[in-house]
Amino acid sequence: MDLGTIEALDREYIASTYGRYPVAFCGGKGATLKGVDGRSYIDFGAGIAVNLFGAGDESWRAAVDAQLDRIQHVSNYYYSEPTARLAELLCKKTGAKRAFFSNSGGEANECALKTARKYSYLKYGEGRSKIVSLKGSFHGRTLFTLTATGQDEFHKYFGPFVPDVAYAAPVMADVGRVADGATCAVIIECVQGEGGVNVLGREFVRALAEFCAARDILLICDEVQTGNGRTGKYFSYEHYGIAPDIVTTAKGLAGGLPIGATLFFDKTKDVLKPGDHGSTFGGNPVSCAAACNIVSRITDEQMLEVQAKGEYLRAKLRGFDGVKEVTGLGLMLGVLCGRPAKEVAAACLERGLLVLTAHDKVRLLPPLNITKLEMDEGLSVLKGVLK
Ligand SMILES: *Cc1c(COP(=O)(O)O)cnc(C)c1O
Repeated sequence: MDLGTIEALDREYIASTYGRYPVAFCGGKGATLKGVDGRSYIDFGAGIAVNLFGAGDESWRAAVDAQLDRIQHVSNYYYSEPTARLAELLCKKTGAKRAFFSNSGGEANECALKTARKYSYLKYGEGRSKIVSLKGSFHGRTLFTLTATGQDEFHKYFGPFVPDVAYAAPVMADVGRVADGATCAVIIECVQGEGGVNVLGREFVRALAEFCAARDILLICDEVQTGNGRTGKYFSYEHYGIAPDIVTTAKGLAGGLPIGATLFFDKTKDVLKPGDHGSTFGGNPVSCAAACNIVSRITDEQMLEVQAKGEYLRAKLRGFDGVKEVTGLGLMLGVLCGRPAKEVAAACLERGLLVLTAHDKVRLLPPLNITKLEMDEGLSVLKGVLK
């Protein structure tokens, strides 16, 4: 099907919640995608940090195929090997004690927030249900996670929102003011993705972790975008040397199939009981087999490679005309370039490069296995556009 036909079908039959760029893809290898227009594109977005090892990855595909040859789905009334194996892999890698599986980042956070409220209810009774989130954060589109998203632009139309959610600026003075005795949890992204690739300060995050621990306020790290090696550590909170109580992840976890995971550490590992929470598709064997493949490949060596590639991109970007600032960690980068980011993204697309945006920044989230050649090709497009 050619692009025009796909576009026409989409316009007529799909709810118009998305502003799409005029391109459709039909294949690819690594960070090089093929459009239905026959053109080749360098991919600096990985489907928003999802295709962790890019397109056409043989090892990932073999893992998915092998599970498809067995069975595609079983309900959570029964045991499932890839699901159990994935939970073990994640726990051994991160020190988490248990996992709950869902299908998306929003659901992973929904589960985290519900668990925090139950933890507090069991220990302190009613009235300690406040969730504090940070200004500039993004936590999802379900009503609870949308409420917990600390950006005013999301807070329209869908009210009334979930009660007992409050927002603090990412500085201790403000968190101290907002997080009172009625607070059960604080949720943070160590690098705010949708909010503009804002890296939270080390001193702030460490002080926040201490503040929470001293008051038995649970610390939830939303690693939906930053997780699974994206920033050069398995989870971005590892850069800070903190120990969260709940960690959520999704996007890159299954390398391109839908999954969400909520990881519980010591304090929270026994909070959820039979019947408390669930998901029909959660822990789907194909997604979990894919995720086992991905997680087992995020090795220390792979992390050094991500750090080195991130440094390479950052150094080059800093030297480009018009670039005012480069933010981020590892292969999660934000580029402030003094021009509307959307305009830059559209111009890049015309020249065969896919980039994302986050507020006023161009956002780069390439597959972790992007090659030097692909990075250089993409950089030269971006350089030309910014000139
Ligand atoms: C994308 C994202 C979400 C929402 O994930 P969905 O899979 O779209 O529900 C939540 N938190 C963060 C930090 C994200 O980047």
